[in-house]
Amino acid sequence: MKKVLVLEDEDNIRSFVVINLKRAGYETIEAASGEEALEQLRRNQDIRVAILDIMLPDMDGFEVCRRIRASNSKVGIIMLTARTQEMDKVTGFMTGADDYVTKPFSPAELTARIDALYRRVGGESLDDGEINQPPFSLNTRKRTLEKNGEPIKLTQVEYSIMKLFMDNPGKALSREEIWQTVWGENYLGELKIVDVNIRRLRVKIEDEATNPTYITTIWGFGYKWAF
Ligand code: CA
Repeated sequence: MKKVLVLEDEDNIRSFVVINLKRAGYETIEAASGEEALEQLRRNQDIRVAILDIMLPDMDGFEVCRRIRASNSKVGIIMLTARTQEMDKVTGFMTGADDYVTKPFSPAELTARIDALYRRVGGESLDDGEINQPPFSLNTRKRTLEKNGEPIKLTQVEYSIMKLFMDNPGKALSREEIWQTVWGENYLGELKIVDVNIRRLRVKIEDEATNPTYITTIWGFGYKWAF
């Protein structure tokens, strides 16, 4: 069972997260304060991912993050931030968080980010090789994509872009970021190659390529997997 710690002092948000994580197949351990979270982590050594709210009654989420990192470098940490807390993101990464999710978030966004982090922290036999975001299903072992159960033929580059999108639902990805992730730092081509591949990918996966609803454009920046 994939165990996730959920630290959030607001009962309704915590329940919302917990219900959705359970639905996605996770076992959840709840905490309403920083102290409680640290105690639960000590008791449950098999927790692989911790979701930390920042505004808490006793200590803030960054302090919790720092204390976790002081004794455990392996657990994956996702910070829950509010839209106005741009600076917090930066501080969050400096204190050792792996990722952040901005409130308000969709259940699909949060579970996809946890799944992605789980794959990165390498939980043993936890990766079943499937990323399911209906109507899409990506098989990371076979490197194949299906839409409504129908296979869609992709090039290796198109597959890598889809994987990047599905690992980051709802997140604005810059063209540079896509370029570096898919082609690598040493690729000497032009950034335009990103747009060329996105255009081709849209023809393959969108209901209407001229009116894309899955891969949306963020003008002057890049693209977003709209889930
Ligand atoms: Ca809070």
